[in-house]
Amino acid sequence: MIKFKKGYTPWNKGLTKETSEIVRKQAEEHTGYKHTDISKKRIGESSKNNKYNLGRTPSKETRKKLSDSNKGGKHWNWKGGITPRSMSSIEHKQWRTFVFERDNYTCQMCGDDAGGNLEAHHIFEFSKYKCLRFEVYNGQTLCRKCHQSLRNKEFWYRVNIVQSIFRGEHYGFRK
Ligand SMILES: [Zn+2]
Repeated sequence: MIKFKKGYTPWNKGLTKETSEIVRKQAEEHTGYKHTDISKKRIGESSKNNKYNLGRTPSKETRKKLSDSNKGGKHWNWKGGITPRSMSSIEHKQWRTFVFERDNYTCQMCGDDAGGNLEAHHIFEFSKYKCLRFEVYNGQTLCRKCHQSLRNKEFWYRVNIVQSIFRGEHYGFRK
């Protein structure tokens, strides 16, 4: 829409087809106005380009790289193909809350109790030990930082915990 500056009076103000020859002629020209074939083609092409841009996806190579890096357990947090949506989320939330409560909302590695950064670690992997999935003793409260530091060391961390259980030092056996 054209916005006129304040105080500017359009030349055709108050003129109608009936009172002005020029206005009548213009109106007739516009009624019969059609996009020429060339301009139609141009419009079609530009909207085609827009569609292309809207649906832009990563290149095949990028997509392959992405899928390779996460494929079949390569991703450190791989849960055996189980996505959080498909696991029993209510049970999982409950389990996590029980673990947090038992550990007093405190990271069991560094003692961080600031909150808001806590995660429940599965001592025996979530994906491999289905029967231990929702066992509170299989969970441990860790802050995000400590949890990530266990990356690729989960096995040895587990050995450590099992050893402490055998020695009677694990919190689960302390009263
Ligand atoms: Zn921590």
